[in-house]
Amino acid sequence: MGHRYRCQHHSSRPESTHLGREQGPQVRDPVLAGPAGRRRRRTSCPRRRPAALRAWDNGSVPTTTAASRTYRETVIVLGTYPLGESDRIVVCLSSGHGLLRAVAKGVRRSSSKLGARLEPFMISDVSLVHGRNLDTVTQAVTRKAYAAPIVADYDAYTHASAIAEVAEYVAQGDGETASEIFALTAGALSALARRTHAAQDVLNSYLARSMRIAGWYIETEACVRCGTQDGLVSWSMAGGGIVCTECAQAGDRPLSGDMMQYLRGVATGSWEVLQGIEDPTAGQRVGALLRRYVQWHLEREFRSFALLERTS
Ligand SMILES: [Zn+2]
Repeated sequence: MGHRYRCQHHSSRPESTHLGREQGPQVRDPVLAGPAGRRRRRTSCPRRRPAALRAWDNGSVPTTTAASRTYRETVIVLGTYPLGESDRIVVCLSSGHGLLRAVAKGVRRSSSKLGARLEPFMISDVSLVHGRNLDTVTQAVTRKAYAAPIVADYDAYTHASAIAEVAEYVAQGDGETASEIFALTAGALSALARRTHAAQDVLNSYLARSMRIAGWYIETEACVRCGTQDGLVSWSMAGGGIVCTECAQAGDRPLSGDMMQYLRGVATGSWEVLQGIEDPTAGQRVGALLRRYVQWHLEREFRSFALLERTS
């Protein structure tokens, strides 16, 4: 029985990545994470299990009351789409289950408080009810109101939009890395909302680190082709990292010392490294390489990137 009802969000990954996490809201899900060192419970996803099985979890008899079909998630709202006259489909990143799409009813009416809590870039605790196709958000409590400060600043907004678009893609169909992507995304939006770092640096760091979590490790310390740590001069798109003089091929992009240092800084989230960089164009040039790298490996063009190409 356990196999039949295994949650589809929790497909196994060949290897997991462990990275330093951004400061953000508490994301540890006690049900999924369990005590340190314990194997994650794969059958505990409340979203994909038949109602009868869910109802038996607490020892009660099967019922179809709303309470038994309700569950809670902490989510980052990545985007919304209009639905019908006054509803919206909300696309969220949840700390426990990765990508989540749900209906929020009546939120396009100006009087809706729920709507304000489900704007893009908000982090909220939401209650949802299972539906036949899409689940429905019934309640939302704001945890971090990042929407207003981000939307008020065009630079922050364009970079946050790129982060949301990449997050939506990277988080698809993989519950194993959900909490890592959630923490990274929450940290990036926090930095944009609070202006703790330049928007460009926040996005570049997000791109490098989200790709690592998704399995596309970016090598910044040694040549991706031969492993040497000497004479590193270029960036290889296909190799996913830097290459040495000997291994550089046609098509590899030359990297200046400042660009190399910038790449290392954003890939590891070492902000102090970025402060020592003199070339003011290093961030912009590495950013262009990273955006191309993300689109090339994910085989997808991100709409929000076009906006950045135009403004940078
Ligand atoms: Zn080499």
